[in-house]
Amino acid sequence: MISCEFKYCKPDSLPALMQILTMYPEATLLAGGHALLPAMKSREIRPERLVDLAAIPELRGIRRGSAAIQIGAMVTTAEVEHSSLLKDALPLLPDAAKVISDPLIRNRATIGGSLAQAEPSGDWPAIALAVGAIIHLTGVNGERAVPIDDFFQI
Ligand SMILES: Cc1cc2nc3c(=O)[nH]c(=O)nc-3n(C[C@H](O)[C@H](O)[C@H](O)COP(=O)(O)OP(=O)(O)OC[C@H]3O[C@@H](n4cnc5c(N)ncnc54)[C@H](O)[C@@H]3O)c2cc1C
Repeated sequence: MISCEFKYCKPDSLPALMQILTMYPEATLLAGGHALLPAMKSREIRPERLVDLAAIPELRGIRRGSAAIQIGAMVTTAEVEHSSLLKDALPLLPDAAKVISDPLIRNRATIGGSLAQAEPSGDWPAIALAVGAIIHLTGVNGERAVPIDDFFQI
């Protein structure tokens, strides 16, 4: 199946993304696309405007922060699998990543997409709960940090 027509843009910074979301609050974010694109092709969802997060550097990278390890929303499962920082500091994550689906999926699917999708059967939501992750959210009204126990809504 082919999806409905949609408008597409690819901002190159977080401020540029916020400008787009201010203008188009109904826009749909695109990460790895492994959940979103099949749903569009089956026409289960018909977004008018896709905003691709792939070129936003602020959403990439795995870093050691002062109190915790920070993983960007656009970090892929494969990047977690191969991260030497995580292998040393939090081996549960690469150990889990390497058994998630297959390399094609791991190379595209993102941590942020998985947590936002919040599939009850998804691996990253369960792993985030197991390690007590803090989710840092940025929106047009500012930033906030949400403990994973309060992040998922039923
Ligand atoms: C064949 C196949 C096998 C899979 N096997 C597994 C498996 O074994 N285990 C597993 O856990 N998962 C599995 N998945 C799911 C996959 O790992 C990802 O969780 C899923 O594809 C979502 O991540 P994504 O980056 O592709 O997000 P997308 O499909 O791009 O987005 C998913 C949703 O999240 C929203 N979103 C994305 N990023 C953000 C963001 N930064 N902020 C706010 N909202 C956002 C999007 O708007 C969309 O609504 C599989 C998927 C496929 C297609």
